[in-house]
Amino acid sequence: MNLSVQTFPVAPLGCNCTILRCASTQEAIVIDPGGDAERITRLLEQDSCRVRWIIHTHAHFDHCLGTARVSEFVENHPERPMQAPRALHRDDLFLYDMLDTQCRWFGLPPTPAEVSINHFLRDEETLPFGHWHLQVIHTPGHTPGSCCFYLPENELLFSGDTLFAGGIGRTDLPGGDSGLILQSIRNRLFTLDDGTAVVPGHGDFTRIYEEKTTNPFF
Ligand SMILES: [Zn+2]
Ligand SMILES: [Zn+2]
Repeated sequence: MNLSVQTFPVAPLGCNCTILRCASTQEAIVIDPGGDAERITRLLEQDSCRVRWIIHTHAHFDHCLGTARVSEFVENHPERPMQAPRALHRDDLFLYDMLDTQCRWFGLPPTPAEVSINHFLRDEETLPFGHWHLQVIHTPGHTPGSCCFYLPENELLFSGDTLFAGGIGRTDLPGGDSGLILQSIRNRLFTLDDGTAVVPGHGDFTRIYEEKTTNPFF
């Protein structure tokens, strides 16, 4: 059983987008299509992916500006049309509904959400793709609906903007909570195996042990 993991930064703020693909069925999950939709769809096409889920760690605009285009590509594919739910935790819906305002905060042209969220992620829900399952871990703090995604077989964690290599997500934007983010990381992420590999929402990859022992916030 093989798994392909492709992570690459996408515009405009270098959010790490990931395509997870079961190499025997080509079923795939797209995590945080924050921009550069053409690049994402090109990779999906190249590997004949059958996308099962389009999921978001949270609803900051830099993690979902490519959602509409990727979703359209998946649903209208001439040979492999798929109904891939566009998923987000319900507590971040207020942010998703104000994508244009969020763009303005960062001095970018306002882009409203062009598609709706049609699946609400729940804590400990598992998202199947091919022979694999991705687990949802609700980790509020950076935003109320922030989630991390965990692949138990590979001890691989996608931590969104909750945990970074040597840092944590900012909590000064609407809905942020500096006490809650520390609690989420301590109780839900630092309890994972020390060897767990971490793919954050921005920047370098790390490991749980590394962050437990050297992250200045702990
Ligand atoms: Zn964020
Ligand atoms: Zn971000």
